[in-house]
Amino acid sequence: MAYADGLVCIRCGRKYTEGIHLEGCPRCMAAGTPANLAPSYDLDKVRSSFTPENLVGRRHDIWRYHELLPVGAAPRTGGIGWTPLMQVDTGAGRCLDGKCRDIHLKLESQNRSSAFKDRLATVSVAKAKEMGKKGIVLSSSGNQGVACAAEGARQGIPCVVLVPSDITPVSVASLRLFGACVIMAPDVEVRQQMVMAMARERGWFAVTNVCRPPIGSNPWGIEGYKTISFEIAEQLGWEVPDVVVVPASIGDGLWGVWRGFTDLRDLGLVRKAPRMIAAEVIGPLAHALECGLDYVEPVPDRPSRAYSIASSTSAYQALKALKDSGGDSCVVSDEEMVEHARLLARTDGMLVELSSAAGMAATARLMEQGKIGRDERVVVVITSHGSKTVHDLMDTGPSIPRLDEPSLERLEDILGLQS
Ligand SMILES: [Zn+2]
Repeated sequence: MAYADGLVCIRCGRKYTEGIHLEGCPRCMAAGTPANLAPSYDLDKVRSSFTPENLVGRRHDIWRYHELLPVGAAPRTGGIGWTPLMQVDTGAGRCLDGKCRDIHLKLESQNRSSAFKDRLATVSVAKAKEMGKKGIVLSSSGNQGVACAAEGARQGIPCVVLVPSDITPVSVASLRLFGACVIMAPDVEVRQQMVMAMARERGWFAVTNVCRPPIGSNPWGIEGYKTISFEIAEQLGWEVPDVVVVPASIGDGLWGVWRGFTDLRDLGLVRKAPRMIAAEVIGPLAHALECGLDYVEPVPDRPSRAYSIASSTSAYQALKALKDSGGDSCVVSDEEMVEHARLLARTDGMLVELSSAAGMAATARLMEQGKIGRDERVVVVITSHGSKTVHDLMDTGPSIPRLDEPSLERLEDILGLQS
């Protein structure tokens, strides 16, 4: 049963009957203030079915929340979502120096393709199939492509991924193993134009953003990120944290997580929604907040090793999430991300992508500044596993000591264990 009843502009509120709106709201686009659309739902209908009691016993993946996802029938393929929410009491908590007592990590790294993008992928593919599309097409530098290729393989739909020239060999290998067609197009505008053309002229489903300035990914797929909030609330016994920290570039995840909490609040299942914090690398959202803008303008670019969130621009949806929630943005450096990624590895045995470590770095900084209180409950979304980018953390360190003979004395000498 479908509970979604159309699309609404997130800026001007205009409602559209369901259809393809590749450039978001036509009225806002014409006004020069591009904005994405978002599915709307018949909340009265949802309210009677989406209850804590009814959720008990449902499948432990994102489709347990199907009433608030924009697909008529959940795909049979499951296994995405219901990731652990881990309270930090030792390990990485030490880096925060006791400045906050109640920190949880939402381990999106434990999704099937090791990233939170699985949530967008499974909803996008299901929607593409429901619409009768020939296949899915997207531009990706890594995680999103891999997630979509994997889901395309599972749900049985062709997948074309346009990639930049600096994509990692691990990502390319994964894409090909999942059966995706991989095309290298170094220019981002070429990638976006081809995604748009395949959608408009050839009947494919465009997963990723096709606009400049960006508006975000397709509005149905973004709904998948809402399930991160549903899970957090359910895992905390229908309590909501005070603060949720999400690494952000265009802000699909940030916006989706915020929408999830507002859905729960509108349904009366929780009393409040959290402050949303964007962990950024370049800082277009921080700039927009600082200048009091109601749109996001590009800021000067700079190189960063956290390439998946190193964007000099962002989308209105991300700014709206920060403003509506009374939140903030924190711009972190590569050095801070490396420090926190290494700390998570050393103290918690957790390998995370540099962009995920941005969330921890931002949390530490905001605590230091007193912007996150000692008694507040904080959830940091660990967006991706570090296995695809582990080389980012491996550029320093001593060479491996060599042992050519079976000598315990020599081994202890190397280990520094001799008395
Ligand atoms: Zn509009």
